[in-house]
Amino acid sequence: MLYGRKRYTYLFLPIQLASFLKALQKIALLLLYPFYIIMLSRILDCKRLLVLLFVVSFGHQSIAQSRHDAQINALLQKMTLEEKVGQMAQITFDVIGKGDNRFSSFEPVSIDTAELRRAIVNYHVGSVLNTANNRARTPEVWYGLISQIQDMATKRTRLGIPVLYGIDAMHGVTYTAGATMFPQQIGLAATFNRQLVRRGAEITAYETRASNIPWNFAPVLDLGADPRFPRHWETFGEDPFVVSELGKEMIKGMEGQQNEIGHPEKVATSLKHFLGYMVTVSGKDRTPAYISDQALREYHLPPFKAAIEAGAHTVMINSGIINGVPVHSNYNILTKLLKEELGFKGLVVTDWGDVENLHKRDRIAKDDKEAIKLAINAGIDMAMIPYQYEVFCDNLVALVKEGSVPQARIDDAVRRILLVKYKLGLFETPNTNYKNYPKFGSKEFEQAALQSAAESITLLKNQGNVLPLSKKTKVFVTGPNANSMRTLNGAWTYSWQGEKVDEFADRYNTIVEALQNKLGKQNVSYLPGVSYKKDGKYFEEYADKMNEAVAAARKADVIVLCLGENSYAETPGNMSDLYLSDLQTELARRMAATGKPVVLILNEGRPRVISKFEEQIPAIVQTYLPGNFGADALAEILFGDINPSGKLPYTYPRYPNSVVAYNHKPAESREVVEGVYNYDADFNPQYQFGHGLSYTSFTYSNLKLNNEKLRTGESLLISVDVTNSGKREGKEAVLLYISDLVATGITPDVKRLRGFDKITLKPGETKTVSFTIKPDDLAFVNLDNKRITEPGEFKIQIANQTLGFVYEAATPQP
Ligand code: BGC
Repeated sequence: MLYGRKRYTYLFLPIQLASFLKALQKIALLLLYPFYIIMLSRILDCKRLLVLLFVVSFGHQSIAQSRHDAQINALLQKMTLEEKVGQMAQITFDVIGKGDNRFSSFEPVSIDTAELRRAIVNYHVGSVLNTANNRARTPEVWYGLISQIQDMATKRTRLGIPVLYGIDAMHGVTYTAGATMFPQQIGLAATFNRQLVRRGAEITAYETRASNIPWNFAPVLDLGADPRFPRHWETFGEDPFVVSELGKEMIKGMEGQQNEIGHPEKVATSLKHFLGYMVTVSGKDRTPAYISDQALREYHLPPFKAAIEAGAHTVMINSGIINGVPVHSNYNILTKLLKEELGFKGLVVTDWGDVENLHKRDRIAKDDKEAIKLAINAGIDMAMIPYQYEVFCDNLVALVKEGSVPQARIDDAVRRILLVKYKLGLFETPNTNYKNYPKFGSKEFEQAALQSAAESITLLKNQGNVLPLSKKTKVFVTGPNANSMRTLNGAWTYSWQGEKVDEFADRYNTIVEALQNKLGKQNVSYLPGVSYKKDGKYFEEYADKMNEAVAAARKADVIVLCLGENSYAETPGNMSDLYLSDLQTELARRMAATGKPVVLILNEGRPRVISKFEEQIPAIVQTYLPGNFGADALAEILFGDINPSGKLPYTYPRYPNSVVAYNHKPAESREVVEGVYNYDADFNPQYQFGHGLSYTSFTYSNLKLNNEKLRTGESLLISVDVTNSGKREGKEAVLLYISDLVATGITPDVKRLRGFDKITLKPGETKTVSFTIKPDDLAFVNLDNKRITEPGEFKIQIANQTLGFVYEAATPQP
């Protein structure tokens, strides 16, 4: 290997020495801390001491901040315009991979040193993303490749600025072989469990650094409000509060409690895709959306705002077009809203090729040069180019020289990029070595992924208590998702579209394998029945296969029918019909017609409509995209070794033309519009947001408030008793909804989730769950696009418990 460990050690000796001295300095400081504190605690009381501790650590952070500022100022002064512009350029790995073009690399993958030098030394490129040939690599290979890039950047360039390497580690480290794969975000949302989400994020950060990568393009904070959208499963679902809460957990899990991203087990996050990406009119990827400013602020902004307040270091921009304006050229969104109003100090990166798109796709620029001018002046700091970096760099240099892009804009962008590099500790430690990450892919991590999968799986229906099954059951398993690791994981797994999963995930269990492990091979038979082909014209092709499956099903006690979708991401996942495919629908009907009990396992990235056969199926389990341990978790649930506790983080539609979220307006629900004309707009989904059954039962009682009135500056304590009234231990996600009964100007939503908590209860046990609500938690964005809380009546709902209260403002509202 070109950069063997010995050579590496030798090259980095001075850096190691410097780090050692720094570490000594830190230890000395740390040792002095207790001394100061003991001394001061004698003078002050305990509370004051806490405040003092806070001040000390805050002081520590601001010292680091001003040290970085000084370093950046010094560096900026030395940098030429070309060097600055290069920092703003991000290329994809294949550009520097050895190969005969920029779009792919030869295998086994290696770096083309001449291309690397051209990009990093001649063009000063500051960032690289992605993997070669869209394929996962081992941590060792990652280490070899990235350390070679860092070596070029830190040793062979004039200023030695390290490269910022970024990757999509979406549910585990997508492109690292052996990484721990968690459920995709939609499944994590279904757990309603903040701790699990945080733990998963910590593990992903650890394994990303174990791959020598310090920057993750996650989490996705877009609202999953349209089930037609091909990235629905990448979101935390349709509710802004859930997205905000779990988004914060992801930030803290990946960046650290104090956003200490220089820690070798932490990474910088990238909130994506700012903003309003997944609610296009057509339901298809990267097509136009029309979103009022009010709706943008009411539903789409809060998760990003919360994550920025949680300290996230980078933001990726929405590839789409809102109200006719491509977001990448929208000064109001990028600069006014994101950088000025939200005060975001980190770096803003484009999505894939989106500067070029301003010219080639959106035609708001006559050529690439104008596109670059629009994007950079709008507030873009770094362009994910990803191939023709010369076009970006040369044009941007020319634009600055001719005065079309202000030098100050370039300095601001580079300052933001350098700050992330400094905070990540890349100047001191450009690489992290996989050898220092013994927990990579460990049992401990796998266990966390298994638990997340188990808590995500959602029991949607259980007529006649078909589930749990007895371990003596003879099971027939069928459907295209029954024997596939690819469908359990979905896309962003070992490759972008997930098509390489089976190559890398052989050692994990498919649903058939997990059931065989549980019951013994002799008790589990399997035939796929049909494939994913979409429409009825394939019926003939599958007639024999379906007949065989029906014959086999007749010999079993129970049919486990595994339906859903194959893996997809982004535009390749666009579709025109939300109904589950015709072939799968037919298989479901044929299985139901056998008269055997059917347990439908849904394994899908978005809720495909099943109303054509749902009534004939007694038990339905939603697995979402549960990852490599999804089938093991499912088997535990089907046979009752784990009690299911997932709840739907979205509304499951009954018909493709009735796609309405739970937080709709009153006009959507007949039950809410009382005594007026029947608009026939009845809200009647297949399953409600928050729906999810258990093998035990929970009874809610005693909903209480500490006050009938909430006043400005005060808070309201809401409590409810939850009792496990069944016979098994179970976990329950307790969901608090509040309705604003009347609002000025804007029709209020029928209800909004304002709190959730997950508890565990033994049979017969009761726990009191409390939520604290402040006036701001009840606010809505009014016609002037301001968040306000109006005085008036509100209604609380937790399960079947309801209660009203009044909010009184201390001062008259304008
Ligand atoms: C996706 C982003 C992703 C980027 C880099 C784009 O196509 O929209 O979510 O981070 O590619 O892989």
